[in-house]
Formats: sequence, C-alpha cells, structure tokens
Amino acid sequence: MSAAIHPLFINGQWRPGIEGGLADDVNPATGEVFAHVAQASAQDVEDAISAAHGARLAWQKMLAGEREALLLKAAQIIAAQADEIRDLLIEETGSVFMKAPWEVSYAIECLRVAAGCIRQPFGDTFPASAAGQVGMTIRQPLGVIAGIAPFNSPFLLSMKKIAFALAAGNTFILKPSDLAPLSGLKIAEIFAAAGLPAGVLNVIPGPAALVGDKLVSDPRVRMITFTGSSKVGRHLAAQAGKHMKRVTLEMGGKNPLVVLRDADLDYAVDAAAFGIFFHQGQVCMASSRIIVEAPLYDAFLEKFVAKARTIKVGDPRDPGTVIGPLIRSSQCAFIAAQIEDAVAKGARVCCGGTHRGPFFEATVLGGVTAAMSVYAEESFGPITSVLRADDYEQALFLANDTQAGLSSAVVTNDLQKAFDFALRSESGMVHINDTTISDEPHIDFGGVKESGFGREGGMASIAEMSEVKWVTFQMGKRQFPF
Ligand code: NAD
Repeated sequence: MSAAIHPLFINGQWRPGIEGGLADDVNPATGEVFAHVAQASAQDVEDAISAAHGARLAWQKMLAGEREALLLKAAQIIAAQADEIRDLLIEETGSVFMKAPWEVSYAIECLRVAAGCIRQPFGDTFPASAAGQVGMTIRQPLGVIAGIAPFNSPFLLSMKKIAFALAAGNTFILKPSDLAPLSGLKIAEIFAAAGLPAGVLNVIPGPAALVGDKLVSDPRVRMITFTGSSKVGRHLAAQAGKHMKRVTLEMGGKNPLVVLRDADLDYAVDAAAFGIFFHQGQVCMASSRIIVEAPLYDAFLEKFVAKARTIKVGDPRDPGTVIGPLIRSSQCAFIAAQIEDAVAKGARVCCGGTHRGPFFEATVLGGVTAAMSVYAEESFGPITSVLRADDYEQALFLANDTQAGLSSAVVTNDLQKAFDFALRSESGMVHINDTTISDEPHIDFGGVKESGFGREGGMASIAEMSEVKWVTFQMGKRQFPF
C-alpha cells in the first residue's frame, strides 16, 4: 500500500503546498516511509501569516468563556482519540509504549490548564502617584505567534505552545519538526474538529531554514517560541535580534544528577536509570551526567550498571521496551563518535556502547574527564557518564561545569546540602530527591545559560505571550507645574 499524502493546514483549509513539494515521513524503528507530507513554499508561509494576522482581532474579541470552551473541547477530542495519537507517536518518533500515552495525557492537561488561565487576572492596579490618578497594567495579546517544535515530544511540546498562545488571545503558526510533521498536523485536525475559527491556527511543515527565516523576518509575526537544539536556537536568537522580535528559547541540556554520600543507594540508582533511559535519552532534561560522592561511587556504579544491563531495548510497540529506536541513524553515529573520543582519551565503557541499527544499548561511561566531548556536549541518547566527586563542593562544581543549565537533581537526606544545592545549582529547575526529568503544564519550565531563556507553562506562558501596558486614568484635573 502506498503511503498517504498529508496536506498543509492554512486558514482553516487542508491544501497541498503551492509548489507541490513533498517530504517522506519515516518510521525510525523500521526505516519505512509511512507518509508523504506537503512542504510549505515561501508563498504558503506568506498565506499562513496573512491568515493568522487576519484572524487575530476577532479571536482577541472572543469572550473568555467561548475560548475556554474551545480549548476544553479540543481536550475532549484528544481523550477520545488517545489510542490513535499514541500509535502515531510510536510510529512517527519511535516513542516507547510507556511514554506515548503520557505525552497524550500531558497534552490534555495542557489544554485544561490553559483554559483555566483564561479567567485569571491579567494585570495589576497601582497606588496613585498623583492626586486622582488610577494606575493599572493590562495584558494584551501580541497578535501572531510562530512556534518551531522539536521531534522528541512533538505533540506535547507543540500543544504547550499553542494552548497558552490561544488562551492569551494570540493566533498561531506551527512549524512542526521535519522528523515529526504528522504530530503537528494532528493538532490542526483536533482544533478544526473543535470548531476553531479559520486562521487562528495554521500548521505548515516545510524546509526548516526557508520557513524559519520567513517567520522570523516578517513584522506581522510578533514572537517566535522555539524548542529544539542550542545550535538552531542560537541562530534563531541572532535572527530575532536583527528583526527586534520577541523570542523564547527552550533548548538542550547536560543535566547533572548528584548523589551525595548519605543517599539511599537503590533509590538513587532507580532515579538515575529513569533520568537517562526514559525515551531512550532523547529528553532535554535527561540525566546525562551522574555525579556521585566518593564514598558511594563504587557501589553506585556497580548497581547502576547492573540495572542498565537489564533494560530492554527494541520494538517500541512492546510494552516492556524501555529503549526504542533513536530518531535517525545519524544520531547513532554521533553517539558512537562521542564514545570513541572518550575511550581514546581514557574513559571506560561500563556497559552498552554499541547499537543494532537504530537501537542503541543502555550505555554507561566511567572515567570521563573534561577533555572528552561527552563530558559537556549533549548526547540526546541512552548514554550517561558517572563522575566521581571527592566531596559536596566538588560535586556542585562538576554539576555547574557546563554551558547548559536546564535541570538538575540531588539525592540526599541532608537538608542543608539539599537546599544549598537548590540555591547554587546553575539551572532553571532543581529537583531534590528526584530525577532531572519533571514537567508540569502549570509550572514555569525553562533553562538558564545556553539552555535558553523564557519560561513555558501556566501563567508564565501567558506572561511571555502577551504585552504589558501601563494605563493611567486621571479622575478630575491634575495640577501641572506650569
Ligand atoms: P533541532 O534544533 O534540530 O530542530 C528543532 C526545530 O527547529 C525543528 O522543527 C527543525 O526543523 C527546526 N529548524 C532547524 N533548523 C532551522 C532553521 N535554520 N531555522 C528555523 N528552524 C529550524 O532539534 P531536534 O533535534 O528536533 O530536538 C532535539 C533538541 O531539542 C535537543 O537539543 C533537546 O535538548 C532540545 N529540546 C529542548 C526542550 C526544552 O524544553 N528545553 C524540549 C525538547 C527538546
């Protein structure tokens, strides 16, 4: 059977790309092309921007209750199609069986949280600075927002942008990942079924540089919300600066999980294993550096490696699989090169280190030093380094010894050190007695340093996606000095 062709979604219409371009959508586990996806040309991007721009004023005026009902309706539609969306995520991104339903339920929660934000206060009042003056801030929608999404949790991460942008009264253009375009187009289908007015959401898969450049350079697009690698984010930030455009960047991590000498060993091993092997390590918050205080180091490494060896790698549709395929063979080659570099400079492969096709074994490295690329460079796969720290201060130093700053974690029952770590860890999110992976739709999510800037989730998203205006109202006449 030939793979189906999936059109673009612009101004409430499903249509082919004007220039007729198509790209293959490939199942990473099998390597099979299972869909062909229309590719936006410059004219299609222009049409999407015009549609979103044209739809914005009516959408801003829509009553809060009506917008809220629409988001909740979209949540209901997802719930009714949960199994179908789960299967799409497995087929399109190699998401394992345990992760795909979580991604679907997160998207539902995201819509519910965003719907709840609509009736929250969007401003403040201020004491008068002149007799008879009433001062306030009001928040207004920006207008058109464009989102650029990654492949690894494409449904969840696109929805997190769209739901809050719409809740804040903006219209939206999504450029989904070229590795997961159907997950983005599925969101268009859901909102169309929910009755979203034409033009409020447009989804345009297409050549990344062409679509990205056009979205960033067009003055009608008021904000770019990006999730992806630090390399692409850096490029977009430079472009956005050139065009004086608001941008939020949710980028990569090299997240430390610190195990202090008093930690519960078995618990720390479980937290670390989940932190690095969930979704085959293709998580921005993955625990890709595990730092263990010396007295516990050998025992931790032994147990952690033993656990890593039991982790099932293979078919993502099998509910017992923990590690499914990496997204592309180039990613396996990238990680293999990191391992080769580390071994050449003296590191040990404690387990794993190889792959069969797209399936990379759970890999643990010992003896990693700052001279090796794997020490500080994001791997985005099921590979972690276990580093030894002489004491707490050295553990903290190692944790912060990276340009990334997304998430960190510490496992300890020492209250003083736990909170000291929370304050001194150079990362946007810190989890005490937990793993580095944690994401809630109502909480400010985001990083520092090269992991990005701006926050996503709940009212933090509303703040990023709206403009504050200071308004004063003078009751009676003010006395001027001349
Ligand atoms: P990527 O940077 O390769 O791609 C992300 C998006 O940018 C895709 O839609 C891609 O098509 C687009 N893109 C690529 N070049 C572009 C250009 N020149 N102009 C405009 N857009 C362009 O990232 P990826 O491989 O899809 O995702 C993995 C990365 O995302 C990892 O680094 C991971 O840590 C990061 N990530 C971060 C978060 C977070 O919340 N901080 C969440 C998930 C993933």
